[in-house]
Amino acid sequence: MQRGALKWTFCNFQTFVWLLGGMFFFVGCQTPTNTPVDEVEVLEEIPDPPVMKYGFNLNDYEVVVKKIRRGDTFGSLLENHGIDYPEVYQVLTKIKNEVNVRKLQIGKPYTLLYSKDTIPTPKVFIYQPDISNYWVVQLRDSIYGQTISKPIKTIEQQASGTIYSSLYETMQAQNLNEALTYYLSDVYAWSIDFFRLQKGDRFKVIYTEKFVDDTISVGIDRIKAAYFENNGQPLYAFEFESPKLPGMVDYFDDSAKNLRRAFLQAPVKFSRISSRYNLKRRIAYYGNRIRPHKGTDFAASVGTPIMATANGTVVKSSYTRGNGNYVTIQHNNTYSTQYLHMKKRKVRVGDFVQQGDVIGWVGMTGNTSGPHVCYRFWKRGRQVDPFKQKLPEAEPISNDLKQEYFAFIEPIKEALDCISFDLEPITFQSNNDNAITQN
Ligand SMILES: [Zn+2]
Repeated sequence: MQRGALKWTFCNFQTFVWLLGGMFFFVGCQTPTNTPVDEVEVLEEIPDPPVMKYGFNLNDYEVVVKKIRRGDTFGSLLENHGIDYPEVYQVLTKIKNEVNVRKLQIGKPYTLLYSKDTIPTPKVFIYQPDISNYWVVQLRDSIYGQTISKPIKTIEQQASGTIYSSLYETMQAQNLNEALTYYLSDVYAWSIDFFRLQKGDRFKVIYTEKFVDDTISVGIDRIKAAYFENNGQPLYAFEFESPKLPGMVDYFDDSAKNLRRAFLQAPVKFSRISSRYNLKRRIAYYGNRIRPHKGTDFAASVGTPIMATANGTVVKSSYTRGNGNYVTIQHNNTYSTQYLHMKKRKVRVGDFVQQGDVIGWVGMTGNTSGPHVCYRFWKRGRQVDPFKQKLPEAEPISNDLKQEYFAFIEPIKEALDCISFDLEPITFQSNNDNAITQN
């Protein structure tokens, strides 16, 4: 021990080469010492637990996973892995009724199971285009093919949460499917300003999620009902399919008002408002003079899709030095909107667009210092703040349907009210310093 310490001190003063040389020297000169030798632990041989996938124990094979590339065919892949054509032909003839090997999608994974012999040979080929479907071809011994479709189960789920940082993080902290954030913000896209959530805002949600093998989520199916308390204001949402428009669902509140507005709150999803409508904006660069900003800037990365916030007709799709690539949509006699600084425009003058349709992509053309979309909103020819407008409700429930609607939502509302908030809400504060930005 003493010696080791000495050696280390010594080595600290040497260059790296010296260190290595020195160590060899000392190791070489070391004579057996009396220091106790570490006892050798004898480990019992425990076989690895089987890793079952596609009906095979993967421990029995060398597993090679690759992705389909352009030009790949089932035959060429086998040939690349050491199976020559006569054998490939034999395989193809035997499996042609069980497996359709012609439908290979670029980018999808395939797996080859190799024997663990001295000369490994591929034994099994598996192609899995999605989580619930795959096919298996046994290539050697008894050749066979099998196409397997696992059933997808839709399970009703409940969740709740209190927001301290962002909706996304709240969902994450509770191990909820990330997509739930998007679904929930879609339901409330018109009624809640997701750019200004408050600490202590909370939600409850009843939704359906799709599962394969009972545990692997393959995505949110839909939101049946939700409750969102924003800024102390409760807002229910119930999915309802009007018998008049089968297949068309909308979300309505507990007094049968449509949550959807004729306008979306934002032309881009999950961006950040970098500058709001502000008639008294002062800019240091201009000597602190007032330079009103009549648009709302949504910062988002280049290439983010820009959506029409409401149905309408494209009246301008053009380029100017200040605006860059921009699109103007006339919605009706009252409203029109404009979207500036696009990287690329997707629509032409005269096109009819629907709410949510992509009309271009975020860029930084024109007079701008960073990627964002400047969203301008006109009401009767005057540019106004879209966040201050009482925007018209989309398709209300007709009076003759209201009774049916209230009867429909009654048990759902009861179920929703029974969900408790798992986290204790913190005291609600009304000043905007607590506004949370959604990124
Ligand atoms: Zn702007």
